Amino acid sequence: MKSLILLCSLIFAAHAWGNLHLAPPDFDIKEGRAVFIDMTDAHHSIVFDAGRRTTTATSEIKFFNTKEGMPIFDLIPYPVSVEIDGVAVEQKQISLPGGVSTVRVALKTLAPGEHTLKIVNHIKKHVMYTPIFRNVSAAFWIRDLKDRLFWEQYLPVNLEFDQHPRTMDVEFKGRKVHKQVIHANGKVNQTGVNKWRIEYPAWYTVSAAYFHTMRVGAKRTRYFTLKSIDGRNIPATVYTFFPWSVGKFVTEAQKVFAELEADYGPWAHDKYIAYGSGFGGMEHAGATMTSFKALDHEMLHSYFAKCVLPANGNAGWIDEAIASWRDYGYQRSATPGVPANLAGRSVYARNTNNQAYEHGREFLAYLDYLMQDKGGLKAFLRGYFQTYKYSMITTEHFKNNLEFFSGLELDQLFKDNVFTETPPTPRDEEESAYHPELTEEELESLI
Ligand SMILES: [Zn+2]
Repeated sequence: MKSLILLCSLIFAAHAWGNLHLAPPDFDIKEGRAVFIDMTDAHHSIVFDAGRRTTTATSEIKFFNTKEGMPIFDLIPYPVSVEIDGVAVEQKQISLPGGVSTVRVALKTLAPGEHTLKIVNHIKKHVMYTPIFRNVSAAFWIRDLKDRLFWEQYLPVNLEFDQHPRTMDVEFKGRKVHKQVIHANGKVNQTGVNKWRIEYPAWYTVSAAYFHTMRVGAKRTRYFTLKSIDGRNIPATVYTFFPWSVGKFVTEAQKVFAELEADYGPWAHDKYIAYGSGFGGMEHAGATMTSFKALDHEMLHSYFAKCVLPANGNAGWIDEAIASWRDYGYQRSATPGVPANLAGRSVYARNTNNQAYEHGREFLAYLDYLMQDKGGLKAFLRGYFQTYKYSMITTEHFKNNLEFFSGLELDQLFKDNVFTETPPTPRDEEESAYHPELTEEELESLI
C-alpha cells in the first residue's frame, strides 16, 4: 500500500512537472542562475496588418520553475517588451554552456512557483504582403539539422523537451474582408470576419506544430479522406506549389498511409496535411511541407519524430535513422557500419547530427540483424511506437527498450557506435536527399 501511495505521488509529480526532468542542467551567468522552465500553456495572438505590412505577436505563457533563478526561453526576433507577472523585465541573449547554442533569459530571479511571461515581438521571417491587393501569406517553416530553426524564429517558445497546449489567435487587418485559408495541424475555427483560432494538442513540442496561411485559391488544393485501419475517417488536405502535381501527391499519400498503418498501427493524428512544395522536405505532426520524392520519408516522421518525439538534439538521430532505414528498404546487415557521434554531443545541443541518415541507417540495419530471432527491428519499432506515441524519448530510452525487447546487452555497442566522441574515420557531412538545405530565398518563395 505504501509503495502504491508512493507510486501515485510519483505519477502526480511527473505529471505536474511535465518534462522538466528532460531539460539540460541549469547554469550560472554573470547576473545569476539561469534556469530551465516548464511552460504549461501558451497563448499567441498574431496580427497580420496588410495595410502597415507589419506582423505583431503578443504571447502569454504560463510556466513554472522548480528552482530559484532567471527563466530561460527562446525567441530570435528582438522582443518589443517582456513582462513577468505583469512587471516589465530586461532580457538578453546568452550562449548555452560550451557555446553550442543560444537562448534568451529574462533577467529577474524568480522564486519557484507559477508565473506568467508576456512577450510582444514582430515577425518578419516568412511573411509576405502584396502591395495593391493586400494579400497575406505566412508560414512557420522549421528545420532540424541546424540550430535554432524551430518556432523560436517566430514566437517565444521553450526548448524541444517541453510539451504543452498552445492556442494561436490570428487576425488579418488592412482590408475589409480577408478570404484566408489556414492550414494547421490543430483545431481551426473562424472566430470573426478576419479572425481564426488554432488550438494545438497538449503533447506538441516546439517542432511539431504546422502553420501556413494564404488567400483562398492561392494554391491548388484537394480535400479528401483517409480511411484508417481503426475505422476513423481522417480529413486530409493536399495542396501544391505546382498546381498540376496535386493528384500525384494525393495518390502517393494514400499509398504510404496504408503502408505505414500496416507496419506500425493506426495514424495517430486527427488530420493529414501535405504541402507539395516541389523541393525540400520537413516533417510536422501529421503534416509536412515536402518534395514529391520525400513525401513518404516525411510521412514516416508522423510516427517517429512527430509522435514519438525526440527530447533533445542527441535524440534527433533516432527518427532520421528509422526514416532512412525505410527509405533504403529496411536492409539487414551483419556489421554496424562506421561509428559516429550521433548522441554523445553536448547535452545542450538542439539540432540533429546530419550523419544520422547514413550512419544511423547502417546501425539500425545491424540491430535488425541482431534481433532477427525476435522478429527484427521493425517488430520492435511497432511496439515502441504504440507504447510511447505522444511522448518524449532520449537515446538512453531507445537503448533500454531495445535491450528489454531483445534481451541483448547493448551498452558497449551504443558506446562504440552512437556515443562515439571521436569516431575512428570521420566522414564528410552528408546532405540528405530528404532534408536538403534550402536557402532563405527558397523558403521565402514557398510561402
Ligand atoms: Zn527525415
